[in-house]
Amino acid sequence: MSILIANWKMNPDSLNKAELLFAQEIKNNTKHQIIICPPHIWLESLYKKYKKYIQKNIGLGCQNINHEENGAHTGEVSIKMIKDSGCKYIIIGHSERRATGETQEIINQKIQLTLKHKLTPILCIGEPMVIKQQGLQSVKNYLETQLIECLKNISLADKKQKIFIAYEPIWAIGNFAIQHLNQTEILEIKQSIELTLQNLFSTLNIHKTFKILYGGSVDEKNIKTFVGNNLMDGSLIGTSSLNPKTFQTICKQIN
Ligand code: PEP
Repeated sequence: MSILIANWKMNPDSLNKAELLFAQEIKNNTKHQIIICPPHIWLESLYKKYKKYIQKNIGLGCQNINHEENGAHTGEVSIKMIKDSGCKYIIIGHSERRATGETQEIINQKIQLTLKHKLTPILCIGEPMVIKQQGLQSVKNYLETQLIECLKNISLADKKQKIFIAYEPIWAIGNFAIQHLNQTEILEIKQSIELTLQNLFSTLNIHKTFKILYGGSVDEKNIKTFVGNNLMDGSLIGTSSLNPKTFQTICKQIN
């Protein structure tokens, strides 16, 4: 079973469209764990409407939370609100949020909060183009630093708790024409992420606690380069998750 996460970003622009997209994306799913991450404003309605489908292999997630549990934070959404609206998964540290000034320290706080409330963080990591141009070792070092800082002081006392790591090279996001990494590079990066996680959480079976996903212009033509067999455990999908036909084809491509 692969994990396919739909990051709708700031789409669609009405609840009607969101309901339709949700229904089309979860249709006939028996094979995979599908997690839909709509904008905050549609979460509760979608949860109420599709509650009976939102179980083990269909999940509802969101794209961000505030790093404080409570308080005076105009325009922000708290972990408790997210939990109350039926969400079990939270995308944290997406590069589009890091670009607005979100630091590793804030990301770490958001992960701590998410785990405290027994929800699953989807931690996004990934290098910019300048690092990619320095070669694979620089990429691995960059990701290692992101993991060490974002996962600092996390103890995971609850052995059932899961953390998803979405490796999303920034240069590959929303850039379908780019030359993607090949399978050998993907495998090498996955192994390097696993090694870092094993060093950080030496007492855990990291394969049980962590799932490693790939994101960045994933579509029906390239999904098999990244996911399945002993490649990544799944994918975080942006643009292609806004087209239900493409999303369904992606799901069918992988086993
Ligand atoms: C993303 O933003 O998480 C993402 C993977 O986007 P896209 O699929 O459009 O590159």
